[in-house]
Amino acid sequence: LKLGKVNLHRVLSDIVLLQKNACEGKEVYLQQYFDPSIPPILADEALLTQLFLNLIRNAMEAVGTGGVVKVTSRVLADYALTQKGERRARMVAIDITDNGPGIPSDVLENMFTPFFTTKSQGTGLGLAICQKIVSEHRGMIRVDSDPSRGTVFTVMLPLVQ
Ligand code: ADP
Ligand code: MG
Repeated sequence: LKLGKVNLHRVLSDIVLLQKNACEGKEVYLQQYFDPSIPPILADEALLTQLFLNLIRNAMEAVGTGGVVKVTSRVLADYALTQKGERRARMVAIDITDNGPGIPSDVLENMFTPFFTTKSQGTGLGLAICQKIVSEHRGMIRVDSDPSRGTVFTVMLPLVQ
């Protein structure tokens, strides 16, 4: 783990920019909504890039043509008080939201297992690697899926200064 100060929004917007035209023949709308108050975080930039690239690629692969993938950052309502009585946020959450078909329960149960894939060309390694990277950063990853609305992957990372 090579920790350094990482500008999360630069990492995310670089990925979004690079992926904009990455779905050949399938139009996918990529949108980003960032909370500008989020400070740089202590993290391994290369690993964070790999993490969010995996999640954004999965979302883009899940949607049909005209689909929408949103990348959102927010500060979790989980605060610590500093000595001066100021509130300091402790975690940041990044949501990768898609309006694809959602994830059936048998897939939900297995998708973090290495080599589990439902794609003909899939490796099944993406989410296993994502989970490892998140836990190395002492964060959390959760998934919320609904067949009528799509899927949200949420990555929570500590805001250590
Ligand atoms: P791969 O992308 O190579 O299949 P992953 O570990 O990244 O491997 O994902 C495992 C499986 O989880 C996928 O094959 C797919 O079935 C499911 N999955 C992951 N993300 C999504 C998503 N956003 N929407 C629907 N299914 C998903
Ligand atoms: Mg994948």
